[in-house]
Amino acid sequence: MLAAARRGCVIARGSVQQSQKRGMAGMAHEEVVALWKSAKAVCFDVDSTVVTEEGIDVLAEHCGAGEAVAAWTRKAMGGSVPFHEALEARLNLFGPSVKDIQDCNTKHPLELTPGIADLIATLHERNVHVYLVSGGFRQMINPLADILNISRDRIYANNLLFKDDGSFAGFDPEEPTSRAGGKAKVVQTLKEAHGYDPIFMIGDGATDMEARPPADAFIGFGGVAVREVVKEGADWFVTDMNDLIKPLKE
Ligand SMILES: [Mg+2]
Repeated sequence: MLAAARRGCVIARGSVQQSQKRGMAGMAHEEVVALWKSAKAVCFDVDSTVVTEEGIDVLAEHCGAGEAVAAWTRKAMGGSVPFHEALEARLNLFGPSVKDIQDCNTKHPLELTPGIADLIATLHERNVHVYLVSGGFRQMINPLADILNISRDRIYANNLLFKDDGSFAGFDPEEPTSRAGGKAKVVQTLKEAHGYDPIFMIGDGATDMEARPPADAFIGFGGVAVREVVKEGADWFVTDMNDLIKPLKE
């Protein structure tokens, strides 16, 4: 009864369409926007959120294993293969060397999603701490972080390992993002270390949504790829980063 009364009240204020669309956390749209304006920290997924592609697919394509790796990525997205196994299997298909990654970053730099640079600059102006939390690779994310003025200590991502001659040696299994539930673990660690309240997670995938909780709210981003489960479960679903900038400028 209370929930119905509350919903009725919100609808009476207008914005019927958005108010009826509630995320799994049960917040009305107006509540999410108000919370967003008070964000102390925001964690961004990288692949298909901050950039328009999946980093591992770009790297695999560069190394001539695009097709095989894309198939593995689809499997991992569907949740049928444990994350770290899918990561290991995909990397073993092409074993990227230091040189492969450097060449790839030069020839096929990851393209920023429209509006993301403005959004992150706006958050920085408001002294909101911005983190990149990704199942992708530090070696590909570092150049993006430099462009976005995000310091390296605010990147949580997988770290590729190499032998002395620069050839592929695997990935660091100690990075929380190398395992299922890793993003939630990172958000929890950040909350405990810094006391961020509220802290947001933004991303296109189910693994991003799994970080709420501990994230106080989850914004689904569908500007590159729309995943129904994310669209349905997000506290706020946007396809344009500018929708997130507008309330911060009001
Ligand atoms: Mg993603």
